Amino acid sequence: MIVVMNKSASSGDINKVKEQIQHLGYKPHNVRFQSSASDANLKQKNQNSGKQIEDLPGVVDILEDSPQEKLSSRNHRKENTLVTVGDVVFGDGNAVMIAGPCAVESRDQVIETAQRVQESGAQVLRGGAFKPRTSPYSFQGLGERGLALLAEARELTGLPIVTEAVDQDSARLVAQYADMIQIGARNMQNFSLLEEVGQLGKPVMLKRGMSATLKETLLSAEYIMSNGCSDVVVCERGIRTFSRHSRNTLDLGFIPAFKAESHLPVIVDPSHASGRHDSVMPLAYAALSVGADGIMVDVHGHPEHAKVDGFQAILPDEFAEMMANLKAIANVLHRNIGSL
Ligand code: PEP
Ligand code: MN
Repeated sequence: MIVVMNKSASSGDINKVKEQIQHLGYKPHNVRFQSSASDANLKQKNQNSGKQIEDLPGVVDILEDSPQEKLSSRNHRKENTLVTVGDVVFGDGNAVMIAGPCAVESRDQVIETAQRVQESGAQVLRGGAFKPRTSPYSFQGLGERGLALLAEARELTGLPIVTEAVDQDSARLVAQYADMIQIGARNMQNFSLLEEVGQLGKPVMLKRGMSATLKETLLSAEYIMSNGCSDVVVCERGIRTFSRHSRNTLDLGFIPAFKAESHLPVIVDPSHASGRHDSVMPLAYAALSVGADGIMVDVHGHPEHAKVDGFQAILPDEFAEMMANLKAIANVLHRNIGSL
């Protein structure tokens, strides 16, 4: 339910409405609509259940039975949302290139990789300091030391950094160091984590869960947005299917379908989607072709020694080759890729 308040409603009026909403068993969210909420889809007024709220001072209208995807939907906002990370913009028609190791392993590794990918046109550095691992016995990441190494790499290269938070504590720490907070596929429906990152004042990259529908993905974005963060970039990273030739199946159809439903930028991670280095380049070309607002790839100088996901990492030289080919495809599409 959306309670539309008068612009001149006092904070006392707003608090009374919030109390009543809580009394009815719901959680109130303060939301400032950028465009009119009087869209036909939202305006199905139910006279009964809003009764206890609609007579309160300052209330203009009660919109019930509205779609659940309120803030993330194109019904709510027609224009594409632009998400700015450092001085990089997602959603303006150009494709943002994000690259770096799956996990931060050492100072040399992260700094060398950052320098190499930047030379080849990457605009954002990735690297996990907190790693959600399937096995408790696998490398779990360097934690805060990893975040400090990423910050040092940013200092040296100027690349803004995106890194994953796995719980509320790590989210607060990540927010102190990173330019963008990543929510991994496994945590896409960790709703308390989503609520926390929505309040941290940093842009969020939300990875699609490995069996999440488009609607479920949007509702997860909604958790972040309704907590105050409108800067959400969604990432398609492959879904679980019966196929066994790759780790996951990259759902390229998700990209145009998502763009039809939502104004948020959507990017593709061909590394985690395929799990194999020989598929990363062709899938990246496909991602650009279907209109992704960005591409995120794992790059490692010595994949055979990588602590995490070495098989899917491409070499810095391969990254450079891939960027040159992406540039050619981008030219045909009248788009730009990375900083090239
Ligand atoms: C990652 O990007 O490092 C990662 C763990 O990806 P996902 O959450 O998509 O598996
Ligand atoms: Mn990984």
